[in-house]
Amino acid sequence: MSRPLLNRRLEGLGTTIFAEMSARALVTGSVNLGQGFPDRDGPAKIAQVAADAILAGRGNQYPPGPGVPELRQAIAAHDERFYGLRYDPDGEILVTAGATEAIAAAMLALVEPGDEVIAFEPYYDSYAANIAMAGGVRVPVTLRPPHFRPDLAELTKAITPRTRLILLNSPHNPTGSVFTRDELAAIAALAVERDLLVVTDEVYEHLVFDGEHVPIVRFPGMRDRTVSVSSAGKTFSFTGWKIGWVTASPELVTAVKTAKQFLTFVSGGPFQYAVAEALALPDEYYARLRDDLMAQRDLLCAGLSEIGFEVYQPQGTYFVTADIKRLGFQDGVDFCRNLPDRAGVVAIPTAIFYDHPQAARGHVRFAFCKRPEVLTEALRRLSRLTRR
Ligand code: PMP
Ligand code: GLN
Repeated sequence: MSRPLLNRRLEGLGTTIFAEMSARALVTGSVNLGQGFPDRDGPAKIAQVAADAILAGRGNQYPPGPGVPELRQAIAAHDERFYGLRYDPDGEILVTAGATEAIAAAMLALVEPGDEVIAFEPYYDSYAANIAMAGGVRVPVTLRPPHFRPDLAELTKAITPRTRLILLNSPHNPTGSVFTRDELAAIAALAVERDLLVVTDEVYEHLVFDGEHVPIVRFPGMRDRTVSVSSAGKTFSFTGWKIGWVTASPELVTAVKTAKQFLTFVSGGPFQYAVAEALALPDEYYARLRDDLMAQRDLLCAGLSEIGFEVYQPQGTYFVTADIKRLGFQDGVDFCRNLPDRAGVVAIPTAIFYDHPQAARGHVRFAFCKRPEVLTEALRRLSRLTRR
């Protein structure tokens, strides 16, 4: 065939780094601190709800397009309980196949070919793909070490008459930065002033160790221009269930649903009932999740520093970015490709999440959503790096 098979918009996207690195971990028997998934499942009683639903025939056939009513009500109750936000379960909430589908559907629904989409780099890999699928133009604004704060002057400069929306992610993967109330207020004010939509990926909303998570939709003028996205994957440690959701005004939910219905139509019927119960878990569940992860963060960060990495301690998420240059390495991509063989550990080079990778050439990301003994073993293996 003379024509390339792959649609030009998807050129260069290759295989996701997460899939590539998890496969390498398996083949080499490495400790996988690459792809972010917990090595312990979420609460057994929530898994039991899913199993019971399957056996009782709840959700085994197509659930309703917007999601089962129990889950939409539970999402509304969760958002009111934690943030004082009010969403109508009938019309302002849409259940999706993970946050991934929510973001894809939002881009396909809201972005016209040629529209500019501003995203803070490094950005989660599906953002670039989704913007490309919609025919949009990605406009990066760089978060810089050591604290990876959003540069508001740079953001202001990045806005043009072609800007359609800001794609936000706080707590931020991969840097672990959590945008402050003041930073979010300033971003919201810009969105209002320049009449932009905001799509906000808040999947790490409950994984904040320093600071607080403030949904950007709470700021003045944002309720009707914000598409908020979250997911059960991180909060309940069931990343394979792929239950996510969108909350927004009826008009925005309708727009996103228009695209979503032709992507998966619906998914995960029995899991939707289980996630409804999970969202209603008591505050102690959420506190314990955060405390356990914070202890794991501290264990990994201290160990990496001791080995000689320059560690950028994250405020949230379950990822830490570290610089390898002090250890005598230069390039994070080479380092991560060789790390399984050299030390039996898998990590992710973050330069690939940038349009301007130079700033992050020596940065690698480690996931700490792993049991303490697994993190300790990874550190033991990584300490070999200094005995070359
Ligand atoms: N956004 C971010 C920032 C993520 O890190 C992830 C996944 N790990 C997702 C979205 C995707 O979430 P889900 O698994 O619910 O599709
Ligand atoms: N969000 C996970 C991470 O950042 C990966 C999910 C995936 O593999 N798509 O590690």
